[in-house]
Amino acid sequence: MAGHASRRRPVRADGQAGRLPGRRPGRLPVPLTLRQWWNAINLTTPLGLVLALASGCSVHRGPLGLVLAPGYRWPFPDGGAFTVGNVVLFRARTVITPHLLAHESRHATQYAWCAGLPFLVLYAAAVGWSLLRTGDTASRNVFERRAGLVAGGYRERPVRWPRRRT
Ligand SMILES: [Zn+2]
Repeated sequence: MAGHASRRRPVRADGQAGRLPGRRPGRLPVPLTLRQWWNAINLTTPLGLVLALASGCSVHRGPLGLVLAPGYRWPFPDGGAFTVGNVVLFRARTVITPHLLAHESRHATQYAWCAGLPFLVLYAAAVGWSLLRTGDTASRNVFERRAGLVAGGYRERPVRWPRRRT
């Protein structure tokens, strides 16, 4: 998932905003091929594709074995981008940068390590934990921290509970 900051990045007037990075030439490395197959088998990529098509996104083959789906319009989740399996869904105004793609690609790997759908439950628990500690969904969310807070457009908030002794 990506924070609001990625949505608020300025949109360039020359139409470069939202331009989809092309698929890199050459074969996909073996780990990324395995991730692609595993997230198809564990049904998270099919779920992402259904969500993308149902919500009116266009669907494109992207780098890193990802599927890029710009044009997400539904209110939830409210960030600039989010990933389901190997499918990365973007809001129309989100500028797709290599940093953001790397962040979302790490989420695709997290889906694979969590055997697919359990990721959604674990991610929700991580959001709850982060909210409890910082009042923010990402700052102490292990999945967002490991995917890279800055790359995801998040600003780290200080821990407010439990207070650390000084
Ligand atoms: Zn994220």
